[in-house]
Amino acid sequence: MLESLSAQVVPLRSATDLVGPDGPRVDAVLLPGGESSTIDKLLRMFDLFEPLRTSVADGLPALGTCAGLVLLATEVDDRAPGQQSLGVLDVTVRRNSLGPQVDSAEVELESTLGAVRVAFIRAPVVTRVGPDVEVLAQHQGQVVGVRQGTVTGIAFHPELTGEPVFHRQLLDTVRRRSA
Ligand code: GLN
Repeated sequence: MLESLSAQVVPLRSATDLVGPDGPRVDAVLLPGGESSTIDKLLRMFDLFEPLRTSVADGLPALGTCAGLVLLATEVDDRAPGQQSLGVLDVTVRRNSLGPQVDSAEVELESTLGAVRVAFIRAPVVTRVGPDVEVLAQHQGQVVGVRQGTVTGIAFHPELTGEPVFHRQLLDTVRRRSA
């Protein structure tokens, strides 16, 4: 999705991919879907957890989708044993709230960026929104998209339905910061 919007994408595998002697080597980070407890373990195993936390807390724009939202949150209900989160987005999320894999669904949502078509796969929901957090999207009365400053978390997968607005907003945030 980011490449289709003309961004250059690099995988982050170590702290040196993320931060150089003069600060971050990337303009933004995307924390993808997957399994948040596994991503958390890998981030810590490869010494990326703390550099990533510091970079995003210091203003590096971030977009987390699904498991990525769980990783960004300050509080996680139903966390796996020992699971940690970066704590850079002042919300509480509840994992696996929208049902198991078989209940995956494509839905149309209203968001602050307009009507969007997205996919939910074992999605979390946001159960508490901090005072500085803006709600971007709701689904069946539950908050599924949030933004705090340069950090955005969405409970769904826009990339699976080809919905570009959230990735475009991330790139707009990057442009605004460098202007
Ligand atoms: N349920 C997964 C988790 O807690 C997220 C699923 C997804 O990213 N599609 O990490």
